[in-house]
Amino acid sequence: MTLPEQLPPDYHTHTALCGHAEGSPLDYARLAERRGVPALAVTDHVPFASGYAPQVRMEPEEYAGYQAAVAQARQAYPELPILLGIEADFFVGCETELASWLEARSLDLVLGSVHWIDWNPDHPRGLFDGGDPTRLWTDYFDMVGRLADSGLYDIVAHLDLPKKHGVRLAVDVMRELALPALDRIAAAGMSIEINTSGIIHPIGEFYPSPELLTWACEREISLTFGSDAHFPERVGDRFGEAVNLAKAAGYTESARYQGRKATLFPLPD
Ligand code: ZN
Ligand code: FE
Ligand code: FE
Ligand code: ZN
Repeated sequence: MTLPEQLPPDYHTHTALCGHAEGSPLDYARLAERRGVPALAVTDHVPFASGYAPQVRMEPEEYAGYQAAVAQARQAYPELPILLGIEADFFVGCETELASWLEARSLDLVLGSVHWIDWNPDHPRGLFDGGDPTRLWTDYFDMVGRLADSGLYDIVAHLDLPKKHGVRLAVDVMRELALPALDRIAAAGMSIEINTSGIIHPIGEFYPSPELLTWACEREISLTFGSDAHFPERVGDRFGEAVNLAKAAGYTESARYQGRKATLFPLPD
């Protein structure tokens, strides 16, 4: 299969403001334009005034500067649609604070991520220390379902993140655990993303797996693409392959966002 000539927008990127990434919205825009990435969303990690994981996100009072940095990039690259986005965590008890924070902001899109249960899906130690992988995945997909039910988010980020360090379940077990979460995502009218960052993680493949993508497509869950770049050089990374993966799963369209409303466009040829 040859790679498509055009690329979809990159709707998942991080800047230096979150304390664990490099580059500014301006740097990302420069690279996006050079690479032929047709649109960009800046999606730094949302601040929590209540103090959830403060070391990996902007402070609440830094949000104005974040907005200004996106505005500056828009001014410098008027031909490139640059969306003001946020990656917002879902964890038990986050809803009230997050709902009022989001209510007061005009964002183009909100990614929803599960990074904390009572273990960290980014570093699922339990998978290596005698934890039961089926239990962990059950809890994880339950959290994804609750994320969807909350109605606070537009796109589920890195849908099968716990595979990051290489521990998988048999496809039929995975199916049983994932389908209820996918049904809740579909009911919420949310999208999922193909997140290409898995390629630089130990698992060495995109999130989600081809099977999950097929089950999502069967449920008519719309799709976006994100590099989850934590440095500008990864903008649009492996998007040609990601488009082919989407097509192989049955997708013919992907979603573009503005003001938190999705519109479907045909996938690039
Ligand atoms: Zn990050
Ligand atoms: Fe994330
Ligand atoms: Fe991210
Ligand atoms: Zn992420």
